[in-house]
Amino acid sequence: MNHPIFRFFGAVRNVTGSKHLLEWRGVRILFDCGMVQGKREKSRKANLHLPFDPKEIDYVLLSHAHIDHSGALPILVREGYRGKVWCTPGTKDLTAVLLEDSARIQEGDAEFLNRHRKEKDPEIEPLYTLEDSAKAIQRLRSKDYYQPFELEEGIEVEFLDAGHIIGSAEVVVTLKEGGREFKIAFTGDHGRKNMPILRDPDPLPDVDVLVTESTYGNRLHPDEKTMEKDLVQIVREEQEDGGRLVIPAFAVGRTQNLIYLFGKLIREGKIAHIPIYVDSPLARAATSVVANHLDDLDADIQKMIKGGHDPFHFQDIHFTRSVEESKALNRIDHPCIIIAASGMCEGGRVLHHLLRSLPRKEDCILIVGFMAPYTLGRRILEGEKQVHIFREEVKVRCQVRTMNGLSAHADYRELVESLKHLAGSAKKCFVVHGEKDASYSLRDKLLKVGFSEVTVPVEGERYDLMNGGS
Ligand SMILES: [Zn+2]
Repeated sequence: MNHPIFRFFGAVRNVTGSKHLLEWRGVRILFDCGMVQGKREKSRKANLHLPFDPKEIDYVLLSHAHIDHSGALPILVREGYRGKVWCTPGTKDLTAVLLEDSARIQEGDAEFLNRHRKEKDPEIEPLYTLEDSAKAIQRLRSKDYYQPFELEEGIEVEFLDAGHIIGSAEVVVTLKEGGREFKIAFTGDHGRKNMPILRDPDPLPDVDVLVTESTYGNRLHPDEKTMEKDLVQIVREEQEDGGRLVIPAFAVGRTQNLIYLFGKLIREGKIAHIPIYVDSPLARAATSVVANHLDDLDADIQKMIKGGHDPFHFQDIHFTRSVEESKALNRIDHPCIIIAASGMCEGGRVLHHLLRSLPRKEDCILIVGFMAPYTLGRRILEGEKQVHIFREEVKVRCQVRTMNGLSAHADYRELVESLKHLAGSAKKCFVVHGEKDASYSLRDKLLKVGFSEVTVPVEGERYDLMNGGS
C-alpha cells in the first residue's frame, strides 16, 4: 500500500490556524483551514502566506465552523484552491454565517486602522473581503453524519458527531488499496458529555492513525455545579456593585450556552431578573442555524423546543441589531450583562464594551473561554494593568474573573476517557491544537493508557504514517 504522509501546518504547539495536510497517492487532502489569531502583524503574515500552494490541494474536509478552523478558507480560494469543502449540513450553514461575519470584521478593522493611520504609513488591505468569503462559501458541500462518502476511488470519508458546536464532526478517512484498508481519524475539536444543547461526542471506531486536539491537555474543568455557583456569585456581585458584566464570547456555541444557562438560573430563582444584552448580530443568525438543525441537538432540548419553550428567547434577553443599538449599551448605567463577540477580544463589538468597562472599578469582565497567547483577551486574563484598544491606551481597573466550566472542549480526563479504547488499534497518534505544555501533557497521558507511539508534531515536518519518524 502507498504510504500516507501527514504534515501539520497550524495548531501545532498552539491552538489557532488549524491546517493538517494528508497526502496519499498524489492526492492532497487538507483537514481544516483555520485563521491564525494572535499578535496582529505576525498573524496577518501567517494568514496571508499559506504554507502550501492552494492550487495543489485536491480536497478540504472541515471539522467545524469555528474561525480558527475555517477562517482561512477565503484566502485558500482566493489563492487558487479550486476544489470543494466537505462538512456536515450544520457546519455548512454556520460556516457561511461565520465567514461573512469574519470578512465584515476584516473590512471594518482595515477601514478603522486606515482612518487612524499616520500619513507615512502604507494603506492596510483587509485580510479578505466579503467577496472573497462569498467565493469560499460557494465551495461548501455537505454530507450528513454517519453517511460514508467517496472523495474519489479508494478514499472514503465519514463524519461522526464531535459534540463541540452545532455541526461539529470527528472526521474519519478510510484509504483503500489492494484489499487493504487504512483508517485515519481527526477529532476536530472534541466536545464533552452531558453538556446542554448538544449531543455527546461519538466514540471513534478503531483506526490506524489518530490525530487529536489537546486544548485542555493539562487541565480539568470544574464540575457543572461549581460553575453554576460561580456564575450566580459573579452576577449577584455585579447586581450589588451596580456595574456591568461584560462577557467576551464566541458568538456561536459559547453564547448559546450562556443564554441557556442564564435562562435556567433565572427560572430557578437563583439569580434575580437582569437585562442580558446579546450584542452580536451573529448570535441571532447562529440561533436560527441551531433551530434549523434540531436533529443535531440533544434529547432534552429537542423536547423543550417541541414543547413550545424557547431556551434562547425569554423576558430578560435582548438581541441588539444595529451598531447604534450596540453603542447605546455604553450609556446604560444600571447593572446588566453584555455578551459580545469576539471570544478572544481580537475584534468585533466587544472592543467598544471593553473600552468602556476596563477602566470602571464597578464593572467586571468575565472570561469564559480559552485565550490564545498575545490576544487582548489573554492580556486581560493575565492581569495586565494597561492594554491597547484601537491604538488607545486603556487602564484596566475593573474586576477580571474567569470561568472555565463552560468550555466546549473536553478536558484531559474526558479526552483520555473517550480515546483510550483506540490504544490497541492506533499505531500512531498525533497531538495537535494545544499549547506546548498541554500537548505534551496529553501525550504522556495517552502513553500511560497504552498508546504505543504518540507524537507532538513539528510544524511543516513530513510524517510517514506507515513508517517511524519523518
Ligand atoms: Zn472549535
